[in-house]
Amino acid sequence: MVDRIRAAVWLGPALGFEIRTLSAPELGPGQTLVRIESACICGSDLHTVEGRRESPAPSVLGHEYCGVVEALGPGPTPRTTLDEAVQVGDRVVWSITDSCGECTRCARGLPQKCRHVAKYGHTAWESWPLSGGFASHVQLRAGTPIALVPDSLPSAVAATATCAGATIMAAVEGATGESALVIGAGMLGLYACAVLAEQGFEVTVWEPQAERRRRALRFGATYTADGPEADRRFDIAVELSGYRPIIPEALAALEIGGILLLAGTVSPGPAVPVDPEAMVRGLSTMQGVHNYRPEHLQQTIDFLAASDKPFAELLSESRPLADIAAAFDAARDGQALRVVLVP
Ligand SMILES: [Zn+2]
Ligand SMILES: [Zn+2]
Repeated sequence: MVDRIRAAVWLGPALGFEIRTLSAPELGPGQTLVRIESACICGSDLHTVEGRRESPAPSVLGHEYCGVVEALGPGPTPRTTLDEAVQVGDRVVWSITDSCGECTRCARGLPQKCRHVAKYGHTAWESWPLSGGFASHVQLRAGTPIALVPDSLPSAVAATATCAGATIMAAVEGATGESALVIGAGMLGLYACAVLAEQGFEVTVWEPQAERRRRALRFGATYTADGPEADRRFDIAVELSGYRPIIPEALAALEIGGILLLAGTVSPGPAVPVDPEAMVRGLSTMQGVHNYRPEHLQQTIDFLAASDKPFAELLSESRPLADIAAAFDAARDGQALRVVLVP
């Protein structure tokens, strides 16, 4: 039985973290207590800590995570995304959003924007202390989408599914055509290379850093460039760098009927010009993508379990939760695409 729980509580920009201990929470009906095995520092956690992105404080951050079910609340047993009963001892990941399933946005198939959404790693400590991955345990709300993690998949790799991986699955869902452009070869970009290549696309990457371009070739890209080139057109383009000035150039690189998916811009900044005549004549589509639906999380776990791509190489050595401040420094320095914390 759990008696002591530790959480790295983020106090706000410039205030940093403090480790708090607490006793095990009393679980409500349908709730689940998960012991964290691994949690990764995502780029948006960095934005939050550096004050570029609004987030409640104090709170427990961390929304890329994997853990083991330690206790179940009373009442109906939670079910996985494949409708299996969740059991104590299961190794699991869970969606970063928990939605009501009944509001107009849920009804439209946008549960990640539910009018009553609760977000893991993004909720005030007072209302829900154990909401994030940078802790020894997380208290899952009833109804949170949960996916089982196969034994073959290391926890730290599985953790990358819950933000980066599932976001890419959501972005490229239903993509058609032959040629794909991926802009930016960070964590999201490498996922995009791997998933699009498996779907049969010929993948080109725009990425200014030579080392990242080389790595993209090992994740399924067949051609890389340090930026836009005049003579290539793409059926689908996925913007994952967050570099706004590239957006008009990505639109200009679309083949007739092409689609530009924007998923990389997650903090405020200046607007960029769009040529509506070119979009009309090109039958172009530009679409934003943020977070994902439960099935995208399951698809990501299935994808990782079957993939031969070296995702584990993108992760740092595991660092203890107590060293979270240094871990954020390492993430900021780009020592690995994902710095991994273990409680
Ligand atoms: Zn809803
Ligand atoms: Zn994230």
